[in-house]
Amino acid sequence: MHVLNVRQESWPRPAATRVLTVANQKGGVGKTTSAVNIAAALAMHGLRVLLLDLDPQGNASTALGIEHTVGTPSIYDVLLGGRPLAEVGQQADFAPTLTCIPATLDLAGADIELTSQVAREYRLQRALTAYLATDAEFDYVLIDCPPSLGLLTLNALVAAREVLIPIQCEYYALEGLAQLLNTVDLVTSHLNPELKVTTVLLTMYDSRTRLADQVADEVRRHFGPLVLEPVIPRNVRVSEAPGFGQTVITYDAGSRGAIGYVQAAREIAERGAPNSDSEGAPVSTSE
Ligand code: ADP
Ligand code: MG
Repeated sequence: MHVLNVRQESWPRPAATRVLTVANQKGGVGKTTSAVNIAAALAMHGLRVLLLDLDPQGNASTALGIEHTVGTPSIYDVLLGGRPLAEVGQQADFAPTLTCIPATLDLAGADIELTSQVAREYRLQRALTAYLATDAEFDYVLIDCPPSLGLLTLNALVAAREVLIPIQCEYYALEGLAQLLNTVDLVTSHLNPELKVTTVLLTMYDSRTRLADQVADEVRRHFGPLVLEPVIPRNVRVSEAPGFGQTVITYDAGSRGAIGYVQAAREIAERGAPNSDSEGAPVSTSE
């Protein structure tokens, strides 16, 4: 277990809690890796972070070293049992200001079980609003979504104000994004008018391939200033870390993957600073 003793600089706190849903219905694009490492980086720089694992695979819980065997109090109990979030949160060992709401395999049937529930799209929003109204104070809430646009992801979009889309610098990177953006639009019009795509993160960038550059350029053309400047390189340390129940930042802080995630998280924090009016919106640099 690596506990970081080095005193880290503090990053700015947002004026109000920022709730970001990390979504992309494609699997394997870096949602979980991004959610976990951004959460860790923010927490290690003094911010209070809540990470909600909404994927039955529980990969985010694993990467944070959080207990999530079947039967562990989890997000399932919150969504389907009405249990308060406060009762199922666990603190990460390596960062006292990082709380994780674990997901267990119990969640695997939740998309279907939720279908017959009252206010099925609002369950997470209600639980989160209730939690944030208590003295639990968080600067950031990050929600890791499963690779689908089902009711779990819908709950995450309804509970959030911001969407963070990780895009893998690979073939077909933009394929399927229209569907995600369409879903976000539907949520904005019918369920949660506050929701906006504020942040796009390029992941698994391989500097040796021309393709990665082409994808990155195309994403920047399409999403403009929503795209974070730092790009996450493809780096084997990133994929090794979860096997040790760790984030790449605790596993190998000097790796290119860790550095990429710390830089990305810093930009997220800076964009959310009270004196920055951007919250991910276009920042004018021409004045
Ligand atoms: P998702 O949550 O979108 O399904 P993951 O975050 O689980 O995607 O990433 C998919 C796989 O790619 C995982 O095995 C992960 O460890 C690996 N991976 C993610 N980002 C990187 C990276 N920057 N470099 C190398 N491997 C990565
Ligand atoms: Mg995942």
